Amino acid sequence: MHKKNIAVIGSTGSIGTQTLDIVRENPERFGVSVLAAGSKVDKLIEQAKAHRPHLAVIADETKYTILRSALEPLGIETAAGSRALADAMDRDDFSTVVTATVGYSGLEPTIRAIRAGKDIALANKETLVVAGELITRMLSTSTASVLPVDSEHSAIYQCLVGEDPATIDRLIITASGGPFRTRSPKELQNVTAADALQHPNWNMGNKITIDSATMMNKAFEIIEARWLFNIPGSRIEAVVHPQSIVHSMVQFCDGAVKAQLGIPDMHLPIRYALGDASRIDSPERRLSLSDYASLTFEKPDVEKFPCLTLAYKALAEGGTTACAINAANEVAVAAFLGGKIRFLDIYNVITSTLEATDFIKQPTYEDLVAVNSVARAKASEKIESILK
Ligand code: MG
Repeated sequence: MHKKNIAVIGSTGSIGTQTLDIVRENPERFGVSVLAAGSKVDKLIEQAKAHRPHLAVIADETKYTILRSALEPLGIETAAGSRALADAMDRDDFSTVVTATVGYSGLEPTIRAIRAGKDIALANKETLVVAGELITRMLSTSTASVLPVDSEHSAIYQCLVGEDPATIDRLIITASGGPFRTRSPKELQNVTAADALQHPNWNMGNKITIDSATMMNKAFEIIEARWLFNIPGSRIEAVVHPQSIVHSMVQFCDGAVKAQLGIPDMHLPIRYALGDASRIDSPERRLSLSDYASLTFEKPDVEKFPCLTLAYKALAEGGTTACAINAANEVAVAAFLGGKIRFLDIYNVITSTLEATDFIKQPTYEDLVAVNSVARAKASEKIESILK
C-alpha cells in the first residue's frame, strides 16, 4: 500500500486530534510530516513525540523556545509564526494537508497549499466562506483537489458518488439546531457562553459551538456547499434534525432523495477524506437505528436564529460580503465568549459591521485581507459602543 504523508494544520484542536487518531489506527496508510498548532505548545510536543513529524510549527512565536528545546534533541525541525506555517506548505515531504484550524487564519496556508499542488482535506470552512470564488478559480487550474471534512459536506459528497452533477435538484443540509433550539426568543436574551457551550450532539471547539448556537455555522456551511458543489444558494436549504443522525441529503431531478447516516462522530468524515473518498475500516460504534425512537425534521426558525439568513445575503451579493460577515462574526463570538456582549448582540454586530464596511464585487486576495481587517475594526467599534 502506498503510504500517504500528511500535514495537519491545527493539530491540537478537535479535528486535529481526531485526525491523529486515524493516523494511529492506520500506520501502514498514513504518516505525519508536519504538525502545526496555534498556541497549545505542550500538546503539540506530546503529539510530535508520538507521531515523529519532520517539522513542528507553533503559530504563537512566544512559545517557540519551549517547542525547540523539546523537539530538536529528537531530530524534529521546529519553526514559529504564521509565515513559517505558510512556507511549510511548499515542502515536498507530504501530499495532503488537513486544514483543521478555526477561522480566517486558515485561509493563507490553504492558498499556499493549493499553489503547491497539495490535496486539501478541508475542515476549515471559513476558507471557502471568505474566499470561495478565489479558491474555486485556483483549483480549476491546479492539480490539487479538495475533499470536505465537514460532516454535512462529506455526506453530500458521499450521496453524489456515481451521480451526474447536472441531475442535482437541491442540497439539504441538516442542522442539530444547537443548544437553544427549544428556548423562547425571550430566554435567548439572557443565555450565557456557558449555556451555549453545552452542545447536545457534537463535541467541538468553542468557536464552532457558539456558531452552532447562533446557526451561523449552518450559514457558513451553506456558503461552503455552494463553492464545493457549484450549486446556487437558492437550491441549498437547511433543515433542523436534532438527533444529528442524517448528516445531509441530496434531492435529484427525479425526486429521489439520498442521505448519508451515521452516529455523530467526526472520525468518519475525516477518515473518508484522508482515504480519498474510499472506505477504511473503523473501530467505532455502529449506528443502530432501533436505538432511536424517532428521527425528526423541522424548518429552522429564522426569526430566532437570523444569522442563518446571512448565508443567502452573502451568496446573493457575492464579492466581499461573506468575508466581512466572517470577520465580524469572529470578533463578536470572541466578545460573547469573553462575557462582553450578549448572545443576541452577535447578529447585530455582524449586520452593523456589514453596513460600515466597503463592498468589493471582484476581490483579489489582497482585497480580502484588507476587508477582513477593516471589518474586524468596525466590529470592535460596535462592541465598544454596546459596552458603553
Ligand atoms: Mg458541520
